[in-house]
Amino acid sequence: MYVDLHSDTITVLNQNKGSLARNGLMVSLEKGAALKDWAQTYAIFMPDSLRGAEAVAFYEDNLAFFRRQLEENRSRISQARNLDEIQRAWGRGASAAILAVEGGSVLAGDLSRVERLAEDGVKFLTLTWNGKNEIASGNVTQEGLSGFGRDAVKELEKRGIAVDVSHLNDKGFDDLVHCAKKPFMATHSNLRAVCGHKRNLTDDQFKEIVRRGGIVGINFCKAFLNDDKEKAGFPDLLRHIERMLALGGEDAIAMGSDFDGTTVPEGMGSVENLADVESYLLQAGLGEKQVEKIMGGNACAFLRRMWD
Ligand SMILES: [Zn+2]
Repeated sequence: MYVDLHSDTITVLNQNKGSLARNGLMVSLEKGAALKDWAQTYAIFMPDSLRGAEAVAFYEDNLAFFRRQLEENRSRISQARNLDEIQRAWGRGASAAILAVEGGSVLAGDLSRVERLAEDGVKFLTLTWNGKNEIASGNVTQEGLSGFGRDAVKELEKRGIAVDVSHLNDKGFDDLVHCAKKPFMATHSNLRAVCGHKRNLTDDQFKEIVRRGGIVGINFCKAFLNDDKEKAGFPDLLRHIERMLALGGEDAIAMGSDFDGTTVPEGMGSVENLADVESYLLQAGLGEKQVEKIMGGNACAFLRRMWD
């Protein structure tokens, strides 16, 4: 079982007018064909520069592309809006696609858009990218959640869309802790104590996510794995995972590759390498049960908590 909580594949493919079936990117159905029981998150990546009607149009264009790709490949992949639909896809030997959006500008400052997103099957919303939008501010800025942002969190929780804190700055995280009622997630973030990048979580932030029943996807980005990014590799995955385990995160660790959104170490550059990550963790001495949870079991349990 392989559940990946973040990729930028669909937006990149749409720019290139490529095909999900077969392409030169990190994720394709061809590359994932050997993975048994594979669920991939496809995030529509919202550029920070887009606002209002332009942001909505960008989302709509990528959503239409996502749907066309799934339709063209319907024998091999289907969109999953709940855990049953993931199981159903796996049951017929197909891959499950989880739709997400990276960037709160997709709401265009309009709360009623949350319901529309939920109807489209969007399951996770990354509140920000690196900059500021109507909801909050990313890690290159200092501001926290706006009033609209707080209302948006309430509405997202009501409509079953999980709040994603990856890219959010520390002030925004603190504000979210005060207004979130449901578990939330960091789809693609590591630990700052292991690699000091601001995109990574502090130990306290990680523990808060764990305490609430949330989840954290390990990001394969070189710069988030190792302070010396040229040295980043498989052992860094283990360093982040071991610290997460030591912080009580056994049920909260997942995969959040960031495929097609970043630069990753050799040997991790394709979705098929998820199987190599699994073998590496087993060889490194993690228990079979533990590895199963990290590769997908924890993500499925989280999705059940959020969706059912
Ligand atoms: Zn990202």
